[in-house]
Amino acid sequence: MEITVVGSGTVVPRLQRRQSCVVVRAGGEALVFDLGSGAVRGMLRSDLDPFAVDRIFFTHFHPDHTVDVVPLLFAINYGAQEERTRPLYVTGPAPFLRFWSYLMGVWGQWMGGDYATLVSELPHECPSPIDLSGCRLSWAPAEHRPESISYRLDADGGAFVYTGDTEYSESVVELARGAHTLLIECSFPDDAPVPGHLTPSGVARIASESGAGRVVLTHLYPAVDGISLRSEVGRGYDGEVIVAEDGLKFSV
Ligand SMILES: [Zn+2]
Ligand SMILES: [Zn+2]
Repeated sequence: MEITVVGSGTVVPRLQRRQSCVVVRAGGEALVFDLGSGAVRGMLRSDLDPFAVDRIFFTHFHPDHTVDVVPLLFAINYGAQEERTRPLYVTGPAPFLRFWSYLMGVWGQWMGGDYATLVSELPHECPSPIDLSGCRLSWAPAEHRPESISYRLDADGGAFVYTGDTEYSESVVELARGAHTLLIECSFPDDAPVPGHLTPSGVARIASESGAGRVVLTHLYPAVDGISLRSEVGRGYDGEVIVAEDGLKFSV
């Protein structure tokens, strides 16, 4: 799996960090997790083709994780050189179908062309993993919004987990068990925590309890950009710690 952190930022507008978006290349498909503001242009910056997206997954409905689905689908309809024929899969946690119908009520006539848009919602608990091309998808509830989930992809080289927004959660620990790489939110410093989000000590707790091989920190508010996150997380976690920048690429 080839992974690109397209956006490592948050609700706070910043030049150097776009809002949340992660692209995974696996088995010849392009999987996108979250589409915050700036994600579509961020894909171009990261040498990724927005028109090549096969599947979109959302962790929750906050705008900093969802809004760029509008310009992406608008672009697929009216901005592509070649007309799309293969289907586009769009998936989120329940009640995603209701969220999607609201979105379609406003923008729907410009989102979705002759190709099939296959929209589905996931129950909060994963009944059994789903086989995708070259990997296997599972998920678990996260502690942020009632609908929030985190995702896991298992492939031959190991497992990749993306938490989305969360605070400490045993179900996220279980999901991340033995993962090769854990892309985890690290929003605020330990001396100024905010409910529903993680601080470096919470990241370390999830990473060490799950036995993840390395962590990549994302969803970085300005308050954590000024501190040494690698040493802060390293106080409670022995594995490798990487602080994401927009466009960071790594493989699993
Ligand atoms: Zn967020
Ligand atoms: Zn959020």
